[in-house]
Amino acid sequence: MDHIELYRKTLLSISGNQIVEKLALKYGKKFAGKFIAGHTLNEALDEIERLNDKGIMVTLDHLGEGILHLNEAAAYREEYLRLVDGIAERKVSSNVSLKPTQMGLALDKKVCYNNIRAIVVQAQKHHNFVRIDMEDSPFTQATIDIVLRLHAEGLTNVGTVIQAYLHRTEEDVKQLIEAQVNLRLVKGAYKEPSSVAYQQMSEVIENYKRVIQLHLDKGVYTAIASHDDRIINWVKSYAGENGITKDAFEFQMLYGLRMNDQADLAKEGFRIRCYMPYGTMWYPYYTRRLAEKPANLWMVLSNMFK
Ligand SMILES: Cc1cc2nc3c(=O)[nH]c(=O)nc-3n(C[C@H](O)[C@H](O)[C@H](O)COP(=O)(O)OP(=O)(O)OC[C@H]3O[C@@H](n4cnc5c(N)ncnc54)[C@H](O)[C@@H]3O)c2cc1C
Repeated sequence: MDHIELYRKTLLSISGNQIVEKLALKYGKKFAGKFIAGHTLNEALDEIERLNDKGIMVTLDHLGEGILHLNEAAAYREEYLRLVDGIAERKVSSNVSLKPTQMGLALDKKVCYNNIRAIVVQAQKHHNFVRIDMEDSPFTQATIDIVLRLHAEGLTNVGTVIQAYLHRTEEDVKQLIEAQVNLRLVKGAYKEPSSVAYQQMSEVIENYKRVIQLHLDKGVYTAIASHDDRIINWVKSYAGENGITKDAFEFQMLYGLRMNDQADLAKEGFRIRCYMPYGTMWYPYYTRRLAEKPANLWMVLSNMFK
């Protein structure tokens, strides 16, 4: 295991610690700001307008995951319905991303399905799209099942995320391509055991390229979500060499990271979408970002001393 992988695993372990969470919520809030567009929907919509002006599309995420009661899931569903309406009213270029556990997946699969379905139906009325983020591996199959069931019902304005670090990924991608599901392809952000996931970054990258290629070759619209130039440059070359046009895929990056590069990709004529979280439940999202890159932690620490 190299030092970056050790760092990532250590931070992901620490982030599950309740004492650390309490301290972070008390002292860390102002430092999370770089990664979060605001606390309210209106603040987020204002920020979307600013990014749209630079040619950057958005996927808007109302922060929240791992809820304990179904009434919290109902409240999140209502917030997402407002969010979908808000995007349509303001006529901004944004779809939405949500987490299945935020909608109750860990508590009751049927309730979760109905919560997500209500949001997808509302989005369909506005000709918009819903992305179901992928969480840790105990939820992979259930998340895929939800998406396939919605598609079977004719609700095709919904897609999900596939994580290149999972051993099962290639088979999942083949099945989802068959069903014409729009996928976001990522490396994967959770702490997973070697029984289910590749542990070496080189293996993850190799698998990542394999599933991107599968997707692009089949001509199913693909979102490649990475800040890694090894991936971005490879996609640009592969698409160029194989006559894959720029409207067949989009790049995605997180809000607060490589913002100038996001604008530059738009200027080069690539479709680029920024994942923009807002809300007050920022802690789990934030610690995954810190775990991804020592530079992100360094940025927070150096801000503390300014
Ligand atoms: C839009 C989006 C949505 C996502 N959704 C999910 C999801 O649903 N489920 C999930 O498990 N994960 C999700 N992720 C997270 C993803 O799985 C990875 O954990 C995360 O993107 C880090 O991997 P990376 O490929 O971006 O680059 P990293 O592995 O973090 O970095 C690799 C290299 O990229 C370059 N790099 C990275 N960041 C920067 C920077 N800020 N500036 C300059 N160079 C940089 C550096 O050279 C670095 O060494 C999402 C990521 C994005 C961008």
